[in-house]
Order: sequence, then C-alpha cells, then structure tokens
Amino acid sequence: MKKTLKKYFGYDNFRPLQEEVIKHVLSKKDCLVLMPTGGGKSLCFQLPALKFEGLTLVISPLIALMKDQVDSLKACDVRAEYINSSLSAVQIEEIMKRVKQKKVKLLYIAPERLALKDFQDFLKNIDISLLAVDEAHCISEWGHDFRPDYRDLSNLKKMFLGVPIVALTATATKKVRNDILDQLKIKKASVFASSFNRENLKIKVLEKKHAFPKLLNTLDNYKNESVIIYCFSRNETEEIAENLSLNGFTARAYHAGLSSDNRKNVQELFINDKVNIIVATIAFGMGIDKPDVRLVVHYTFPKTLEGYYQEIGRAGRDGLPSECVLFYTYADTRKHQFFINQILGDRLRTQAEEKLSEVLNYSDLASCRKEYLLKYFGEKLNKKNCGACDNCLEKKQKVDVSEVSRKIISAVVRTGNRYGKNYIIDVLLGKKNQKIIRNGHDELSVFGIVNDFSENNLGQIVTQLVAGSYLVKDSGMYPTLSISKKGAAFLQSQEKFSINQAEKELFVLTEKHNPQQAYNKELFSELRKLRKKLSEKHQIPPFMIFGDNSLQEMAYYLPTTKDDFSKISGVGAKKLSEYGPLFIRKISNFVNKNKLEVPEREDRSERKEIKMRAPKEKFYSKTRELITKKIPVKRIAKNQNIGIDTVINHIEKMIDAGLKLDLEYLKLPADRYRKIKKAFGDCGEDRLRPVYEYLDGDFSYDEIKLVRALIRY
Ligand code: ADP
Ligand code: ZN
Repeated sequence: MKKTLKKYFGYDNFRPLQEEVIKHVLSKKDCLVLMPTGGGKSLCFQLPALKFEGLTLVISPLIALMKDQVDSLKACDVRAEYINSSLSAVQIEEIMKRVKQKKVKLLYIAPERLALKDFQDFLKNIDISLLAVDEAHCISEWGHDFRPDYRDLSNLKKMFLGVPIVALTATATKKVRNDILDQLKIKKASVFASSFNRENLKIKVLEKKHAFPKLLNTLDNYKNESVIIYCFSRNETEEIAENLSLNGFTARAYHAGLSSDNRKNVQELFINDKVNIIVATIAFGMGIDKPDVRLVVHYTFPKTLEGYYQEIGRAGRDGLPSECVLFYTYADTRKHQFFINQILGDRLRTQAEEKLSEVLNYSDLASCRKEYLLKYFGEKLNKKNCGACDNCLEKKQKVDVSEVSRKIISAVVRTGNRYGKNYIIDVLLGKKNQKIIRNGHDELSVFGIVNDFSENNLGQIVTQLVAGSYLVKDSGMYPTLSISKKGAAFLQSQEKFSINQAEKELFVLTEKHNPQQAYNKELFSELRKLRKKLSEKHQIPPFMIFGDNSLQEMAYYLPTTKDDFSKISGVGAKKLSEYGPLFIRKISNFVNKNKLEVPEREDRSERKEIKMRAPKEKFYSKTRELITKKIPVKRIAKNQNIGIDTVINHIEKMIDAGLKLDLEYLKLPADRYRKIKKAFGDCGEDRLRPVYEYLDGDFSYDEIKLVRALIRY
C-alpha cells in the first residue's frame, strides 16, 4: 500500500486513520469516515480504487469540485473521470464508453445523476467495486447542509448488492452520524473518526472594533498568499474587496449575486494564484478545494459552529501552519437575528437561535477555543493548553492600571461629569483643541497628565472602568461619563485596579503565521515562479504541480539528484518524470550560484517566533478629512460628487472601523434627534423602512440613517 501511495500520490506516510480505513475498505466492508477538512478523506477511497478490479463510483454534491479532483488525480496518473451537467452529451457518451471498456478507475457523479433511469441501466452492466459517498452529512436533515437529492441514496445498498459503501464527512454530530448510517442502510458499518483537532490551525477571536485596520494589519503577513475573508452580505463583500484594493491588495468579491461566469472567473483567478484574496459570502468554498489557503477571516461571525468549523477548515489543508481570525462584536447578532426571525416554524427557529447562541458563547470564551470546539463535536482535547488558540497563546497577564485609572476618574470629575470618553481622553493627552480651550480645560491639572498610554489604551481602560462601575455612562447621542460612588471611594483609597494585558494591547495582533524559517525564501519564490510557468503551460492550477509544502521542502533539502528529489513529499512517479528535471535544474543552479550547503535530511531546525506590527488606517480619507474640518454632510457630498447617503455610509463605516471622529457638529435639532432615536428603539436598528414609516414620513431617509450612525457611535 505504501508503494502505491508513493507511486501515485508521492507521499511516504499515511495520515492518521487513512491506513486503517483503507484496509477496511479493501476487505469490502462498509464504513463511515469522519475526518476534519484537510484530513485526507479522499485518499481513503482513491487508493482502494487503484487496487480494486472494478470501478469506484464517487458520489459528491459539489459539481464544481469534481473537475478539480479529477484533474488532480489525472496529474498523478490516476484514471479518473466525472460526469455532470457541465459536460456535453458527446463528452458524457465518450466517458461512458471508456467506463464500459474498463479504462476508468474512479467515476465522480452527483446524486441526481444516479436517479436517472438511463444512467441506472448503464451502471447495471458495469463492474462496480466500491461506492464512496462524499460529504455524507448532506443526507441528514439534522446537518447544516441538507440536500434533498441525497435522500435518494437510501437505495444505494439495494441498487448495488454486495458492493461496500464508504461514507465520508467532515462535519457530523452524533445525531447526524447515526442518521447517515440509517439513511444509507449501513447500520453495521464501522465508524472511523479521526481527531478533529487541526493542529496546524491557529485560531483567534478579535474584538470587531477597528476591524478594518486590524484586517489590513493581519493581511500584511500574507502578502501573495491565499486568503479567504467571509462576510455576512453581498454588499459587505464588495465593499471590503474594494477597500482592500484601495489599500494595495489584490482582492475580489465572490457571492451568489454574481453571474456564474463571473464566479467561475474569480475562482479560477484564485486557484491559479492570480488573485490572492477572496472576499466571500459562505457561498464560496463549496466550489473550491485549494490546499494552500493560509488565512481564513470571518469578518462577521457565522451563524453556526458547524459552519464555522467547516469554513476555517479551508485553511491549511496541506497541513502547513495557517491562521483563522474571527471578528466578534455582539452587535452583529442583529444581522443574524433578522434572518432567524423570518424562519417559519417554532422548532426550526428555536434551533437556529440555539446554534447562534453557541457561536456567541464560543466568541466570548476565556478558556481554550479548541477544547470548546472539539467538545461541541463530541471529542475531548487531551491537552491542557492547545498551544494554538488566542486564549492559550496569549497569556492574559493582569496589568495594574490603578494610577492611570485615578487620573481618568479625576479628569471626569474636574471637567464636571458632563463630557464623553473622547473628550476626557483628549484632555488627559493634552490635546489643545478648540473646545478644550474654550472650556478652559487646558488649564486643569489633569490636562496632559498622561504620556505613557495611547489613545486606544486609554479607551480600553475607560471601557473597563465603566464595566466595573467606577464610572457611569449615560445613554444619549454623546454619552457622557460621570463618577459613581464606587469611583469616588476608589479615588480616596489605595485600592488596585487591573485589566488584562491582551485587552490593553489593542493592536498587538498577528504573529507571522509561518515561523518555519528554515527553508531558503529566495529559492522558494523562484520555485513558485517555475511552478506558475508550468501551470500556465499545462493549464492546470499551480498546486496540482506541487504544493507549497513540497516547494518548501525543496528549498530546504536542496535536492539536486533525481533520487533526492523523489524523497520530497508530494513527488510521485509521474511528477518526478514530468517536472523533476526542471525543478532539479533550477535548484542545482541556485545551489551553485549561492554556494549553499546541502543539509542532512534530519536536521530541520526549530521554529522561532516573530514580532508584531502596528496598523495602517486609510480609507474614506476624503470624507474623513472634511469631517475633521466640520464641513456639513451636504457639502461633503457635493465636494466629492457623491450622494448624501454615500457620505453617511462612509460615516457608518468609519464608526464601524473604530475611527475617532468628532461628530458633534452634525447634531440635529434635539427633538428631531430624540424622535428618530425613539423610533429606532421601538422598531430595531436593522432596517430603515420601518422607522421611516413609524415616523409617518416626517423625516428623510438620510436623516434617519445619520441618526442611526450617531446612535451607534
Ligand atoms: P479532505 O477531503 O479530508 O478535506 P483531502 O483528501 O482533500 O482532504 O486532502 C487534503 C490534502 O492532504 C490534500 O492536499 C492531499 O493531497 C493531502 N494528503 C492526503 N493524504 C496525505 C498523506 N498521506 N500525506 C501527505 N499529504 C496527504
Ligand atoms: Zn487553546
């Protein structure tokens, strides 16, 4: 088996459970395989398919994936084909002919094809050795991705008497697991469940405040590497893609609203490394299978943990270190709640709410995130510290901020308990703005008294002081701060006040994701260029030539002979003969030119950590600039030749991004403001229309929208 593994797939060893599953399948027994995305499920039927006499029929719901998988197999010299609606009748005819002639080992089809009488008749005369049901959770109503067509698979066992079935999935709770076995009528099947702990994935949850600068900051570590950013809505995908482009990244939006040509095009660009960032709704990912996605971002949290786990599973399928970042704010619950409210049927609605609340629990978690996720999927983490989630990695040290807290509270008192957070911070930092001078607050002893904390740090501490009831924040358009009894007592005492370091360091965010520094970066990048050239020549995606991990190994071990080259992971017989010589030549030249020493195979050196960076902020800069100059919204719009609503959009975005703005000058007459605010209170903030109607059309949409922005600020 290992020989076959190396010969066709180029791997030296099996991944956990693969060998057991394959042995089981070869003994013609049914089984259910549970492995996380990227765990290597496909091999569990692909390798047996090579050993079996007859055909292996693979049933998969993902038409878009079939081509990729089949191309990948062909690149390894495996005779695989697919039949689906994207092929012409003539092409299908041709493939069926070859199947009949026993020239095909693996045939991929979608479940609906199996329901066609003609196709069933055709299969009757084919010697079928194995049935593989991929994405088997689609058969269960309890899953998150139920596909009615999968129900037809209940007949599978009857239709193909005596043929073993292997069902595979990455997401299955106990309930779904049993449902799969029931539906496929393979109750006695063995279940193989490998750990869902994807060790190469680092997970973190970030507060959504300043989300965009944080995103830019994170992306700086992934120049030219594949990234997927999941968003809530189509609008959001387009907007973020656009903003990223403005900041010099190559990003494309992807959502169900694009034409299918357009979507296909975006996918191709991504697969072929021509666009490295995809900003997508969850529609994306079902159709692609790229092993070297290094970063998955959830810009808005997902509605279920099942979905979340599947989406982050698209990172690092090649087993290399990769990162998953989720931006969390409770306010986003609103977005989901709106859709949940539309669900008819109490049971389903309650179910959706429960799932959503699991996501909230997960995001708020102070303990190990992997432990929580694994437990959710019925598995126990056998470690105290996973070493791969923010809660385990960032030891949240308590930092004593008693002194600066007393300064903050004093400033609140000295300015008369009637200013907001930003004003207080400006006073403490000694900013001489007009309002402060007019109020004479630049003469106070607290003016400019803080010089060892940044604006953001101070903001964090104020938040904590409010949370701890040392300060009271009133409601209203510009919530003012005032001192509480507890705060007054604190001022007089020697009491300590501490916050978590992680909260203090708002911008200390991403580490370099791949600390595996040992390989030669320059050679790696040359090898990638060579790969790209070959990919264009042979018209297949780069990763089908060699994955990043293979290239990194090459750039480390520097193989200059055919023999050494064949030891590289991912180099099988076909690829050795087809691409080996070119890569060997490139490596030899590089080694000679740079007089490099070729290392022993064992001494791969230890990983080391790398430092962190501060963020950039630049978007909507014109609007922002004019706001700072206190220009009325109307003129801001006219100045840039855009609509008032667009300006308000900008303001909303800047607020969401956490930029500090002085919006006081935009204030509407107090009674109008109050009326609109009350309307939002009664109708919810999700949509403008109900508020507009509630107010009997007395206010314009622009006005209403502006108030919403101000309420949120
Ligand atoms: P899944 O279907 O479980 O999500 P895949 O079957 O697509 O995962 O495999 C994920 C990646 O792991 C692929 O790039 C595959 O080539 C690679 N892979 C699978 N088995 C092995 C192995 N034994 N050694 C190294 N890489 C492997
Ligand atoms: Zn952990």
